[in-house]
Amino acid sequence: MSAEVEEVVKVRESPLDVSRFELFLKDFRDGRGDFKYRRLINRMVQLRSRSLVIDFIDLLSYDEELATTLLERPREVLELASDAIKQVVKVEDPDYAKTVDRFHARIRGLPETHLIPLRNIRAVHLNRLIGIEGIVTRMSVVKQQLVNAVFRCKDCGSEIEVPQDDSALRKPTVCPTCGKTPKGGFELVHEKSRFIDWQKFILQEKPEDLPPGQLPRSIEVIVKDDLVDYARPGDRAVVTGILLVAKESGRREGPPLFRAYLEANHIEVITKENMDVEITPEDEKRILELSRRKNIHELIANSIAPSIYGYKEIKKAIAALLFGGVPKVYPDGVRVRGDIHILLIGDPGVAKSQLLRYVASIAPRGIYTTGKGSTAAGLTAAVVREKSTGEFYLEAGALVLADGGVACIDEFDKMDPRDRVSIHEAMEQQSISIAKAGIVATLNARTSILAAANPAFGRYLYNRPVTENIDLPVTILSRFDLIFVITDRPNKEEDAKLARYVLDFHRGAYMDVFDYVIPRDLLKKYIAYARRNVRPRLSEEAKEKLVKFYVDMRTKSLDADSPIAITPRQLEALVRLAEAHAKMALSEVVRPEDAEAAIELMSYFLRSVGVDVETGRIDIDVVMTGKPKSQRDKIVLVMDLIKRMVEENNGEPVSKEEVVARAVEKGLDEDTVRKLLEKLHESGELIEPRPGYITRTVM
Ligand code: ADP
Ligand code: MG
Repeated sequence: MSAEVEEVVKVRESPLDVSRFELFLKDFRDGRGDFKYRRLINRMVQLRSRSLVIDFIDLLSYDEELATTLLERPREVLELASDAIKQVVKVEDPDYAKTVDRFHARIRGLPETHLIPLRNIRAVHLNRLIGIEGIVTRMSVVKQQLVNAVFRCKDCGSEIEVPQDDSALRKPTVCPTCGKTPKGGFELVHEKSRFIDWQKFILQEKPEDLPPGQLPRSIEVIVKDDLVDYARPGDRAVVTGILLVAKESGRREGPPLFRAYLEANHIEVITKENMDVEITPEDEKRILELSRRKNIHELIANSIAPSIYGYKEIKKAIAALLFGGVPKVYPDGVRVRGDIHILLIGDPGVAKSQLLRYVASIAPRGIYTTGKGSTAAGLTAAVVREKSTGEFYLEAGALVLADGGVACIDEFDKMDPRDRVSIHEAMEQQSISIAKAGIVATLNARTSILAAANPAFGRYLYNRPVTENIDLPVTILSRFDLIFVITDRPNKEEDAKLARYVLDFHRGAYMDVFDYVIPRDLLKKYIAYARRNVRPRLSEEAKEKLVKFYVDMRTKSLDADSPIAITPRQLEALVRLAEAHAKMALSEVVRPEDAEAAIELMSYFLRSVGVDVETGRIDIDVVMTGKPKSQRDKIVLVMDLIKRMVEENNGEPVSKEEVVARAVEKGLDEDTVRKLLEKLHESGELIEPRPGYITRTVM
């Protein structure tokens, strides 16, 4: 028998005790011959940490029996592991070992068989060590759990130590010193008792894992000690832990029912970089091949919701949104987002919802939701109170859950008033701050938003500016990089084309036409690959093009009565769009043609919504301030006129007809004046104390 075999036999025969685990810690060597856990324990001691992360595969390769027992009887083995770590630390640094009550062996990387989808958790998993992947949606405040109680006998004053566990408080009944039940009872000596931090969070199925039309399942996770506040709402994580049960509260009749929860042993937060889409070397080969195609941009735009006819520009814009620009942090700490936000305003039945659903399905971390949101947290975040326990939780909304991805928000105009306030921060700073009921937190919301809204009057009215057509404050509108108006105007020729296209598509005529569209799976990987690996930089020529366009538009708006055509916000948007266009070809440089593509999209957007309907000029003021310049001028003129007339009339209301006549004298068109007066009346700036007579609310 060789020495190696003898060694294995020795391990097999030894009982499962602390020394067996200690042997693993001291004796295990990784592939390079390094005593990995000796080194890690050494570092743990230096960092004054209490947790040692153990890769399951290491334990399995060293001592299979110990590893499988760990999966089946985790409590027991983790206890051994904890004591074993203490033994090793005692040798390294006896002083430090004394100060720590309990070390934690944290197990990472369970085998596939023990990674259980949330939906499949069943009674057989109880008391086993399992891993669950999900997204953290709610998080409680931090509380302190009593783990070692010291009671004082009120009669004789002696103190009794009572270790506690997860069940109800254990209290002595008889005092060991005086030998009887004290009349005054026992009191808890707080300063001599030991507490650890305790927190609860909800782990929910990832929105993208959800079977269509199903509600997400979730499980409660308890974290203690140094795992507290390790994850945040919105984080995607694999939680390793022991599945336990708690009695369902509040039920008196029926069978004894219990509810499963996970006691966390280890949490691995999945970062934005090692994102969910897996790309194999073969995939990479196909992706690089694809990127070299001459018509790659057209191909990508064609592949966005191919079942939907038309909308060429919108699809190009959505493609840009999917790839995104490059976020920047300037030396002075100012952050500029790389995420592109797009708003679609359109008549009912023009496939807005369809487009959004499609984008959510191919976008990395894409989620589809409506303005109302599906949870109490709505679009941003909220502090909610759980009815059954009365406890406060921080709950993440859609934008936090889509952190690092794309949030497709339908019925954006129906957004909750609370969200209207916090969405500004989410769109520009890409974070959401909340301070309520003792919870103070800032959550990440690095999300691109593709929103759809219905027109305020049910249908888009071209004779009114875009801001009147949509029931959203200008402060929110101005944060979109691009806004598109989609109207449904009957047109025989177009209708026939659409009908033919849709029916052909249903017949499968466009399926598998690789020259026309990229297969969905490949596109998804292509996007993920570009977002992960490509950070294009602006070339000098591209920069010049963008600067020229920007300056041209600004100069056009310089002469006295022309509206301001463009603001620095559009400049940032232009850069993002150009970067996204470069990313589509996996190019590390933003070339002049990328800048041109960005300018084309921007001009299309400006024409589509920014046009001042009265002058026909591009007027970004329509989007930014809510009123086109020319109309604003007219309002000022009319309001000034009324002010003067009322003053002349000793502060009494003046005749409406006279106001109209005087305004017409000043060169305004009668119809316009009447409309303006009506609007000012509606908005409360004018009142009509008696029929036909008006005055200003504020003079
Ligand atoms: P919206 O959200 O704008 O009210 P929907 O997304 O619910 O509209 O679309 C209504 C239906 O009309 C969908 O089945 C959609 O596929 C179809 N439809 C509308 N416009 C188009 C189009 N351009 N191409 C293909 N289908 C379309
Ligand atoms: Mg819809």
